Amino acid sequence: MDFNFSEDQIAFRDAARAFAEKAMAPNAARWDAEHIFPEEVIHEAGQMGFCGLYTPETYGGMGLSRLDTALIVEELAAACPSTTAYITIHNMVTWMVASFAQETVAAELVPRLAAGEWLGSYCLTEPGAGSDAASLRTRADREGTDYVLNGAKMFISGAGRTQLLVVMARTGAADSGASGISAFIVPADSAGIEYGKAEDKLGWHSQPTRLVTLDNVRIPERYRLGEEGEGFKFAMKGLDGGRINIATCSLGGARAALLRSRDYLHERQQFGRELASFQALQFKVADMMTDWTAARQMVHLAAFKLDQQDAEATLFCAMAKRQATDACFEVANQALQLHGGYGYIREYPLERYVRDLRVHQILEGTNEIMRLIIARRVLEEGVIEGLI
Ligand SMILES: Cc1cc2nc3c(=O)[nH]c(=O)nc-3n(C[C@H](O)[C@H](O)[C@H](O)COP(=O)(O)OP(=O)(O)OC[C@H]3O[C@@H](n4cnc5c(N)ncnc54)[C@H](O)[C@@H]3O)c2cc1C
Repeated sequence: MDFNFSEDQIAFRDAARAFAEKAMAPNAARWDAEHIFPEEVIHEAGQMGFCGLYTPETYGGMGLSRLDTALIVEELAAACPSTTAYITIHNMVTWMVASFAQETVAAELVPRLAAGEWLGSYCLTEPGAGSDAASLRTRADREGTDYVLNGAKMFISGAGRTQLLVVMARTGAADSGASGISAFIVPADSAGIEYGKAEDKLGWHSQPTRLVTLDNVRIPERYRLGEEGEGFKFAMKGLDGGRINIATCSLGGARAALLRSRDYLHERQQFGRELASFQALQFKVADMMTDWTAARQMVHLAAFKLDQQDAEATLFCAMAKRQATDACFEVANQALQLHGGYGYIREYPLERYVRDLRVHQILEGTNEIMRLIIARRVLEEGVIEGLI
C-alpha cells in the first residue's frame, strides 16, 4: 500500500492549483456577491481538460481515474467550491453520455462537453420526488421513433445556462418504481422546455439552480441512454462518482478555510498575545486538521474503490460523502468562529465557505439517505466481515 502521490498526480495537482489560483480564486468573492455564472472560466477549465476528467480520451476526455480526479477537484474547490461543484456535475453528465449513449451519439456530443464548449445538467429530482427519486413522475412516451417527455425537474444545477440535459423519466407504468425509469439526452433548447427563476439560495451563488418544465418535448429514440428501464441504474452510477466529487469540493473549501485560520491565529492579537498562543484555539485547529485529514483519506479510499470497480464501491462512496461533507462543513464553521466577527463579514471568505459547503450535506443524496445506503449494507450478514 502506497499513500504517496505519484509524479503524474503531483503534476495534475500542481496544474490545477495554478489554474485555480489564477483564474478562480481572485474572482470567487465577486461571482458569489454578484451571482455570476463564470462560463468563460468554465470554458477555460475545459481547455485544461477539467470538463471531462474521467471521460475516456477517445471522446476528448482526460481518461483519469477517480482518485486523480479528486486531486484536481480539491484544488479547484479550494479556490471556489461553488463553481467547482458545478464543474463536477458537468463532469458527471459528460461521463454518463460517454458511458451509456449509443456510440454515434456519444461521438457527436461528448467531445463538445469534454471541451467545456457545451455544458450539461443532471435532471433527476422533481418537486414531489427528492430523496425518493425512484418515485419520479416525469413521463417519456414513445411516438413512432421519438419519445415525448412531460413533467418537471426541481433544483437543476446550471439549468438555463447549459446546452444539454440528461433527464431521468418514466417509460414504464406509474407504479413501476426504479425499473420503469429510463434516461435521455435532451437538448436544452428543445421546444417545450421552460426554465423557472434562478432560486435564491444560501450559497452556490456562482451557479444557477432552476425548475425545468417539460411540455411535450420531443426527442429521437437514439437520444435514450442504454435500454428502456436502465435509467435509474445509470443515474445512481453517475451519483457514485458525483458523491466523491461533492465530498472533494467540501475538502477543497475546508482546506482553504483551515489555512486562512492558521494564518489568522498568528496575525491576530488579543490579551497582548497572538491567538495561536491560546491552547483552546490550538486544540481547535488540531481537531480541524485531524478531521479534515480523516475525511480526505475516506474520499480517496472511496475513489480507489470506484476505480477498482469494487463490489462495495457504492457503500464507500456513500460513507465518504456523508463523513467528508459533515466534517468539512464543521471545519469551515469552526474556521469562521476562529475569525470572530471578521469571519461573519463578507470581506473575509469564511462565511462564503460555510454557505457553499452547507448544501453538500443535502444534495446528490442527503446525508440521511447516505446513512440509509450504508445501513442497508452494514446490516446484511457477511458484509462487514468482507471488509475487514
Ligand atoms: C442547490 C441545489 C442544487 C441541486 N442540484 C440538483 C441537480 O443538479 N439535479 C438534481 O436532480 N437534483 C438537484 N438537487 C436536488 C437534491 O438532490 C435534493 O434536494 C435532495 O436529494 C433532497 O430532496 P428534497 O429536497 O426533495 O428533500 P426530501 O426528500 O423531501 O427530504 C427532506 C428531509 O427528509 C429527510 N428524509 C427523506 N426521506 C428520509 C428517510 N427515508 N429517512 C430519513 N430521512 C429522510 C431528508 O434527508 C431531508 O432531511 C439540488 C438541490 C439543491 C438544494
